[in-house]
Amino acid sequence: MVAKIIDGKALARVVRGECKIRADKLIAAGCHPGLAVLVVGSDPASRVYVNNKVRACTEVGVESTLLEFPADVSEEEVLMKIKALNTDPAVHGILVQLPLPEHISVRKVLETISHEKDVDGFHLYNVGSLVLGNSVFPPCTPYGVQKLLESEGIDVRGQNVVVVGASNIVGKPMALMLMQQEATVAICHARTRDLAQFTILADILVVAAGKPGLIVPQMVKAGAVVIDVGINRMPDGSIVGDVDFEGVKKKASYITPVPGGVGPMTVTMLIVNTLESAERVLEAGRHISSIN
Ligand code: NAP
Repeated sequence: MVAKIIDGKALARVVRGECKIRADKLIAAGCHPGLAVLVVGSDPASRVYVNNKVRACTEVGVESTLLEFPADVSEEEVLMKIKALNTDPAVHGILVQLPLPEHISVRKVLETISHEKDVDGFHLYNVGSLVLGNSVFPPCTPYGVQKLLESEGIDVRGQNVVVVGASNIVGKPMALMLMQQEATVAICHARTRDLAQFTILADILVVAAGKPGLIVPQMVKAGAVVIDVGINRMPDGSIVGDVDFEGVKKKASYITPVPGGVGPMTVTMLIVNTLESAERVLEAGRHISSIN
């Protein structure tokens, strides 16, 4: 068997086309969708992610504001800025690019963002809503994976799903979202004994560990759907996922490439969440008119 490669770039193009239509409608109604992106320090990977997000916003007509702070900015200053953005009616989404320098508390930052503008879906309120099954803003990476599965008509209901990686931003919300779609979900992490014992049972395997080459063909059930969330920069500058793509491709039924799989969908779902936020504001009549 040779797996079908799920083309995240192509799906992202389609969804962004739909986003453009939604953005145009909002603008015509006097509500220009706006996203504020805060970045602290000069981590090169963060810069790449932020630039991708800003570019994607421009492409669909979402107004993005990039707010850059030096690495030694005080926590207070960042929190003050977030509070100002919370009350700014031109801003519908606020994103703080992680990681942050050690002297700034990620928890405080995420809790300061208004849950109504938390388009990354990391605020406690949004995490709690996700647990209860009525997500306000689904976290972008798992949301992107969900869309990739849907686009291929892959029904997760009743399937054995194994999520490798249990972070707050990918693994845990991914597992919750799939469980709510009635999959049977196991979550593995660095302390899992004999990872292969779990992965071999997966009808759908989602890998988000940040370990290149972690998943080899012997760990994958024949015909499984394999979603590789990992992004690892190798010493030669190339980007690879967590899955041995060439090997696993020969055994799986579907597989996502890295790059060009989950990554483009993560950025796209950020835009979807921002538009969703602006549409809620417009519906509630809380927008400021950008026409006058
Ligand atoms: P993270 O916070 O470092 O979490 C990694 C998770 O993987 C942890 O739960 C860790 O277990 C687990 N893990 C590490 N080594 C493992 C092993 N050998 N076996 C099983 N589990 C293992 O990373 P993250 O933020 O979730 O990101 C994960 C990967 O996805 C990274 O490569 C990141 O760059 C990528 N990513 C991609 C996108 C995208 O858009 N494609 C978005 C976000 C992240 P413990 O909890 O026990 O430490």
